[in-house]
Amino acid sequence: MRLPGLKVIYFLSAILLGVSQSVVAQSDVSPLMVPVDLLRKHVFMLASDSLQGRETGTIGQQQASIYCARSFRQSHLLAAFRIDSVQGSFRQTFAFTVRSGVPFGMGQLPGSASSGSVRAYQSPSSFSRSSYRSIPSTYKPLELAPLPSTAKDSSNVSFSHNVGGLLMGTDLRREVIVLSAHYDHLGKVGKRVYHGADDNASGTATILSVASLFDSLARQGIRPRRSILFLLFSGEEGGLVGSQYFVANSPIPLNQLLCDINVDMVGRVDDFHHKKPNYCYLITGSQTNELASIVNRANDLSVHLALNDGGYDTQSDPKQYFYRSDHYNFVKAGVPALFFSDGEHPDYHQPSDTADKIDYELLQKRATLVFQTAWLIANETGK
Ligand SMILES: [Zn+2]
Repeated sequence: MRLPGLKVIYFLSAILLGVSQSVVAQSDVSPLMVPVDLLRKHVFMLASDSLQGRETGTIGQQQASIYCARSFRQSHLLAAFRIDSVQGSFRQTFAFTVRSGVPFGMGQLPGSASSGSVRAYQSPSSFSRSSYRSIPSTYKPLELAPLPSTAKDSSNVSFSHNVGGLLMGTDLRREVIVLSAHYDHLGKVGKRVYHGADDNASGTATILSVASLFDSLARQGIRPRRSILFLLFSGEEGGLVGSQYFVANSPIPLNQLLCDINVDMVGRVDDFHHKKPNYCYLITGSQTNELASIVNRANDLSVHLALNDGGYDTQSDPKQYFYRSDHYNFVKAGVPALFFSDGEHPDYHQPSDTADKIDYELLQKRATLVFQTAWLIANETGK
């Protein structure tokens, strides 16, 4: 899988180099919270019946991608992708096929279909999709296909979209922090819609709302030193294929990406925290102590969540969260990652994962932690 064209790199690199240096932000943003009404609005929209569970390749997913792109545009982000030499796009199209004859549970680890370079982190051979509870039996793993060059070729593949927008930093704008979430879900089986409010309308709403908060600061002249790339992936539930495509076709060279902060399921309380719901799992796979310490600092300055109360922050964890969302494709490509999640609950991968069950004040705290962490990393001195 190669880059569609060098113009894409030239375009964003030129912007990253060319914006005149403005005042370096030194403002104290620690009292700021991500607006809860905005989070709620996005979750209810994304998890509504009208989007039909946002299954990769369906009209519901396409409509969700248009909704997200519109929100990025309203937040004055730059379109992260190029259609041609003059036109930008908030959407990155990729082609995929359904892997026939490979039921979930027997297939490869999400993201492991890539032949790309695997550096420090190799998936454990014992892991299988059976670790995923209750995925509908009709839902099949996906794999990327080459973008077709003829109409005849295109009849054999389906298309989906990642969504991306860039907020330009100031003096260190060439260094880019990725904030990501997947917006796809499991679609519907018969008439039953899998709403995916926690998985992952909650994370998508977080990224959209954090972008909006950064924009409201930028309009007051308060900008982070480093740039922020807001990314929403499709194809996650079918095997992390949207992020796999992005990493192989990034409009910004991967060596300019400082880290990926990935958010997948942040609106609920898992089975272990009913009495102590003020928590969030922070999963790093032990690869990024420096980043983890910044999260702790951001947390101490703002929302005071219990991080990793109950574990999960190891590569050997039986739940294997480290390998189960889009950040893993960044880690495989040598970009360190942080992963925020709430764990699992009885509505996980069920039609009953609905917007009314989200704890919006808790979602607000976790989204705020994502914002505060991104702000600190984006303004950190030195590296
Ligand atoms: Zn899921």
